[in-house]
Amino acid sequence: VKEIIDITLTLGPELPRWPDSGELQLIPSSRISGGDDYNVSKLCFDLHMGTHVDAPWHCIDDGHTVDELPLDVLIGPAFVAHVPDVRLITERDLAGLDLSADTTRLLLRTDNSELWRAGVKEFRKDYVALSHDAAEWIVQRGIRLLGVDYLSVEPFDTGPRAHRVLLGANVVLLEGLNLAHVQPGPYEFTCLPMKVKGADGAPARAVLLASHGDKVG
Ligand SMILES: [Zn+2]
Repeated sequence: VKEIIDITLTLGPELPRWPDSGELQLIPSSRISGGDDYNVSKLCFDLHMGTHVDAPWHCIDDGHTVDELPLDVLIGPAFVAHVPDVRLITERDLAGLDLSADTTRLLLRTDNSELWRAGVKEFRKDYVALSHDAAEWIVQRGIRLLGVDYLSVEPFDTGPRAHRVLLGANVVLLEGLNLAHVQPGPYEFTCLPMKVKGADGAPARAVLLASHGDKVG
């Protein structure tokens, strides 16, 4: 029996969001309670809010857009690694994970996930993120998808250095995961971002499949 583990944040106006990115709005177009035949809404929000994918075009001006991301990277085996008690993840931290040689999708559970568990609503600039050398390690190691548990792979105030390394090598970045309830180990992984033509990123539903009982805690 496989257990489905949802590692997606629920999109809503109360989620922490990047400064100046604008509020998420679910705008009523029609409402049955207002005499209309249907409930219909518009959704307006920054594409880098909540659980989302970054496409190369986010930082590389001739890079692929989100509708062009390869599905074979977005679906397949993934490894969840636990990296607690660290604010800046370095090359050494990643090398110390002793990943098996065939790991191509890596999700990092850090102290950030405890913010989701605690329901912290304000944006935190001191989130756990990757150093520039950690990003280079990811590329050299042949990782094709990197998942992190806050809204960016790199520190708040360093500029897009790690993004450029990763997106320049066509590593798919999945940001804003909630891994608080996920034990380290191998899983089957599926992440399906919305197929938005020409977009720099898109919200995604991401799930893990685990053998029943031994990976959830
Ligand atoms: Zn992003």
